[in-house]
Amino acid sequence: MHNQYQNFSKVLEQVLGSAVKVEAIRPLSGGCINNALLVKTNQGPFFVKCNRREKHDMFLAEYKGLSLLRKHSQFVIPAVLGCEVDADNSYLILEFIEHTPQVGNYWEIMGRQLAEQHHNHADLFGLSHHNYIGSLFQDNSKKEHWNDFFIENRLEAQLQLAISNKLVDKKFVTEFRKIYSRCKDLFPAVKPSLLHGDLWSGNIITGLDGMPCLIDPAVYYGHPEMEIAFTRLFGGFDAAFYASYQENYPMEAGFDQRMDLYNLYPLLVHLNLFGASYLSGIKRIVSRFL
Ligand code: ADP
Repeated sequence: MHNQYQNFSKVLEQVLGSAVKVEAIRPLSGGCINNALLVKTNQGPFFVKCNRREKHDMFLAEYKGLSLLRKHSQFVIPAVLGCEVDADNSYLILEFIEHTPQVGNYWEIMGRQLAEQHHNHADLFGLSHHNYIGSLFQDNSKKEHWNDFFIENRLEAQLQLAISNKLVDKKFVTEFRKIYSRCKDLFPAVKPSLLHGDLWSGNIITGLDGMPCLIDPAVYYGHPEMEIAFTRLFGGFDAAFYASYQENYPMEAGFDQRMDLYNLYPLLVHLNLFGASYLSGIKRIVSRFL
């Protein structure tokens, strides 16, 4: 057994009962933030994420986010079995999703199921709990208007972090904030939609029967275009995805022109997580919209 997690059997017993016996623990690659483990037991395999005890709040938020998506989304979403701490570590225990080859119309299904998920609406933008995007705090305090939510809870929150991380100078901050007054004319009015919140290819795995399975969400009720914009930030998904999404959730004309505005948020997140190499891309977008 992997030495670091010797006490893990006790944690698993708390979640699954004393009859569970850990047979093997295998570290998995692919995660950006946490240690991921495949835990084989006499009751089948489980997927477990581990981090330091202080990160428990992050796992609780993921637990709630996955539970919400499982309730309202058509996607395969791993079942959440427990969220526990021991003296040193915090654990999120999930159903293990066996990888299978993608079905032929995988991307078409992906587009339709995302559209169906976006048809889940709330009265206000935000969510009843805060969560994390990567390892960064995400403030989901509710707001009536997308514009206010996007500027205050998303752009300004990350800008403040970039200021305290000394990643941006005063000139940049002044220019960046000029964008705020431009935003309100550009976003179509919509009802808040249930978003995965961090939908890039690394957070989609292929689940049972070759169907798309979503992991690692940063859920909230937001502008559906925000989610589509992010899918296009680093290369984009298959064309069948966009065609199928559009058919099931028609977007207003002009999306291509406003897409980069939404993507200022994930770019600021990347700036704060991974450093100054993301600054030039942000500056280019800002100067285009001013
Ligand atoms: P992190 O929070 O560190 O970014 P991820 O949630 O992305 O970790 O998980 C790391 C990797 O483990 C993923 O890229 C995926 O391949 C795999 N994975 C995630 N969840 C499951 C699951 N429930 N079953 C099987 N494999 C999973």
